Amino acid sequence: MCGIVGYIGNQNVIGVILEGLKRLEYRGYDSSGISFYCENDKKIEVIKKSGKIKDLVNEIDKRKLCKSHIGIAHTRWATHGEPTDINAHPHTDCTGNIALVHNGIIENYRTLKSFLLDKGHRFKSETDTEVLVHLIEHFYKNDLLEAVKKSLKMVEGTYGILLLSSYEPDTIIAARKGSPLIIGKADGQMIAASDASAIVSLTNQILYMQDNDIARIKKESIEIYNIELEKTSDSDFEQIDLTISQIEKGGYSHFMEKEIFEQPEALTNTFIGRIDFENGTFRLNGIKEKFKDLLNADRIIITACGTSWHSALIGKYLIEKYTNIPVEVDYASEFRYKNPIITEKTVVILVSQSGETADTLAALRESKNKGATTIGICNVVGSTIARETDCGIYTHVGPEIGVASTKAFTAQVLVFFMLSVALGRKKYLTFEDGIKFIKEIQSVPEKIKRILGSQNVFKSLDSIVETNYIKNNFLYLGRGINFPVALEGALKLKEISYIHAEGYPAAEMKHGPIALIDENMPVLFISLKDSIYDKIINNIKEIKARKGYVITIASEDDTEISKIVDKVIYIPKIIEDLSPLLSVIPLQLLAYKTAVKKGLDVDMPRNLAKSVTVE
Ligand code: GLU
Repeated sequence: MCGIVGYIGNQNVIGVILEGLKRLEYRGYDSSGISFYCENDKKIEVIKKSGKIKDLVNEIDKRKLCKSHIGIAHTRWATHGEPTDINAHPHTDCTGNIALVHNGIIENYRTLKSFLLDKGHRFKSETDTEVLVHLIEHFYKNDLLEAVKKSLKMVEGTYGILLLSSYEPDTIIAARKGSPLIIGKADGQMIAASDASAIVSLTNQILYMQDNDIARIKKESIEIYNIELEKTSDSDFEQIDLTISQIEKGGYSHFMEKEIFEQPEALTNTFIGRIDFENGTFRLNGIKEKFKDLLNADRIIITACGTSWHSALIGKYLIEKYTNIPVEVDYASEFRYKNPIITEKTVVILVSQSGETADTLAALRESKNKGATTIGICNVVGSTIARETDCGIYTHVGPEIGVASTKAFTAQVLVFFMLSVALGRKKYLTFEDGIKFIKEIQSVPEKIKRILGSQNVFKSLDSIVETNYIKNNFLYLGRGINFPVALEGALKLKEISYIHAEGYPAAEMKHGPIALIDENMPVLFISLKDSIYDKIINNIKEIKARKGYVITIASEDDTEISKIVDKVIYIPKIIEDLSPLLSVIPLQLLAYKTAVKKGLDVDMPRNLAKSVTVE
């Protein structure tokens, strides 16, 4: 979580790092701060504030600022210590000569803190981070890099850090282990940040730092060392494909809204280059080398967190159906704490939009350690999971900035579908099956457009929101491939509208949650005309018999359902195995509209942050 940015170059630093911070705000937004080197006074200045970045900007506007061309900044997602002004980063050493921003967790900070307290260091904050800057002060003997090295060697945990010091005022030191950090280079300027969104307005030349790298960054040069301070192979900058318009709202009120509406185009990008009509299949070049391992796997384990975990459940359903290979789905956060059974014929698929999710990354490393073949499904090109897996499939939906994931989810589902068909074609699926699936996929963008352009859908949504935005609870029910969609719909509502929502397999409802049903409990069913339609109608009747308020997502040719439920949202027909791509759209919209109606900050929901880079 959290965003860090640092700049050194010809421009006035404050403007550059504040712009960077604003671009990174989706990564953490409980407090923020900047630090820069004052050229006249020859000292480090720090300004920090709890709240959003606009609160920091207000604070900065009150100050008379000195001239500076080098600085670092941080937008925080607190792990240790409340989001107060004092706990905000940057943190400084006792002398005020060293300032540091940190993304991650220092796990042994208590031991280090008592060691430093014994040595006479004075702590100002309750954060784990502050030990790092005092440790560097402790080791500093006229060589900053050496002090950083010695300090990092004592640290257990994860970090992406940027450090600024009046001892070497033309240098930023950067280091990473477990938290993302990239460096951008432009003419006479260098910028380092947690992700490319803070860099792209300056340059598209990017270098990805690796774990245990330490970088000495000056405005014209960069040196990368390993943790022993041996110089590593020289800095490899690469061109990235990201534009400013991709990371702006482009006329929408929120990133989430933009990303919901982008789905027809985004999903086209996911499948368009992968269709292989000639062979009635999908060409997944990214996993070409490991395709045989997948086909011959004794078991596939898919591991992920949050929304990606829901797409993983759909992946299981599809892979098992088309390949007969057993698939398990695991929460990444549980995976490495339970001794997962992995043989050399096990393939582990890691799903993460950002490719930086700490739990998923840890699961990846554990899988590799045990000898599994690993495959990533990520959105962010060049991300750590994408680089560390044996191979992978990118979702290619462009940057997702809204904290509540939307287009990344549908793209992950689409990738699982393409993967299942590609594998299935080597097993039981016929050429005709393959062609049929290709055509069905090609129809998806148009069908999503119809939902997003339908006045009836929006009218129904508005009236559902009007009746229910004041409710405290919601139940989402689905069966088969739409059960994970029920989970995802419930998660969306929780995340951004703070209404408690549970997702359940519709028939399981009888084994407990039915006790919650009364006229105050809205129950949302996904009840499409599919193989289990009749069963789900029975479940709806069971709820109605207990006076529950029933909303349903139904197939557009279902003329009967409106007679038995309170509200219906109709969606176009599609084959059952692709139906999650359509059924989830009204659920994304319902969560979005409910949050807007409640006046909540859709893109920065309470306590959450995009890209969960701490365990
Ligand atoms: N653990 C640090 C803190 O709580 C850094 C958190 C972050 O990554 O934002 O301040």
